Amino acid sequence: MMGASGLVMQAMKTQIIAALAATFAFLAPVAAIADNHADEHGEDAPRWSIAIHGGAGTLSPDNMTPERRAEYEAALQVALDAGAQVLKNGGTAMEAVQAAILPMEDSELFNAGRGAVFTWEGENELDASIMDGRDRSAGAVTGVTTVRNPILLADKVRTESPHVFLMGEGAEQFAVEQGFDVTPPEYFYTQRRMDSLERMKAEALSSLDVDHKFGTVGAVALDSQGNLAAGTSTGGMTGKRWGRIGDAPVIGAGTYADNRSCAVSATGWGEYFIRVGVAQEICTRLRMTLYREAYASGGDLNDQHRAWMREQGVVQKAADAVMAEVKELGGDGGVILVTPDGDALFSFNTTGMYRGRATSDGVNEVAIFGGEEGSGTGNTPDH
Ligand code: ASP
Repeated sequence: MMGASGLVMQAMKTQIIAALAATFAFLAPVAAIADNHADEHGEDAPRWSIAIHGGAGTLSPDNMTPERRAEYEAALQVALDAGAQVLKNGGTAMEAVQAAILPMEDSELFNAGRGAVFTWEGENELDASIMDGRDRSAGAVTGVTTVRNPILLADKVRTESPHVFLMGEGAEQFAVEQGFDVTPPEYFYTQRRMDSLERMKAEALSSLDVDHKFGTVGAVALDSQGNLAAGTSTGGMTGKRWGRIGDAPVIGAGTYADNRSCAVSATGWGEYFIRVGVAQEICTRLRMTLYREAYASGGDLNDQHRAWMREQGVVQKAADAVMAEVKELGGDGGVILVTPDGDALFSFNTTGMYRGRATSDGVNEVAIFGGEEGSGTGNTPDH
């Protein structure tokens, strides 16, 4: 039986739905949406979800052999499965993000960890960052040369130091104090990346000319407790000099997670992502949209607002709009994101992005080129 407070709640809910329906009649029959999603966080919505990327860029089936393509798809699948397994077993989003990033850092295929690109001086300077959407705690490192898995070090900065962002030698000293092995520089030497650097120098090319793509890796996840997390790891851009730092280790630019809105990891031309503040900008737009809806309906923020936002594809639109800003300024790249409702989305303005996503609803897919599953605008999965 419904008590007095239950009746009041029910009346409020009806009022809010009616107000929303009146205000947004031009958009969609909100009351109907609300009813459809009565159990928004129950049976309808995925209990967990994860998305990963291994970089964006000029990628087309014409400039990739079938063997190379299969190699990338297999590596993405390994990373996706590692993260999904954690979530399936009830692990946290933070654990899943790290589990997914580790195999990509250990693979020569991606520009992170083992396969990192070379600086102008022929070194590998690694960047990584991670953020917990539960409390917005974050850790990041830049310019580290002796740490095999910088994503793990970024997380140690988050949990074991009073800081958020450590650089270079200081970060390496901290790593040793935390028990990390000192990885010799040879570990990060790959002929393919050295060839890129040499070609860049010989032909006076830019990083973009030489690579045609960004190979940064990242993961975002929602766990079954409803918490979000995001992480990103990279070697930066080929031939970087003067201590250049891209967006990947910058909280708010390459990585952001906030349980109130979303978790984002980016890849692309870092300078532009920093200027737009891409990851946080997407999260902020979503949060503000939700607050605006709640304000317009005169009630507190609730699941009906989230349902409305989801139904309207607001999440994809926000990501696409922010990526359009990056493009307007002259940059390119892409983002992956997950929301508290379990949507796992991509948005990129390059011809391809190494990517994958999995949810508790059985979605499990990896893709590389544009036009494939989940490649951009309008690809909000309908679970
Ligand atoms: N965003 C990275 C950077 O600018 C590059 C990448 O995504 O691969 O350092």
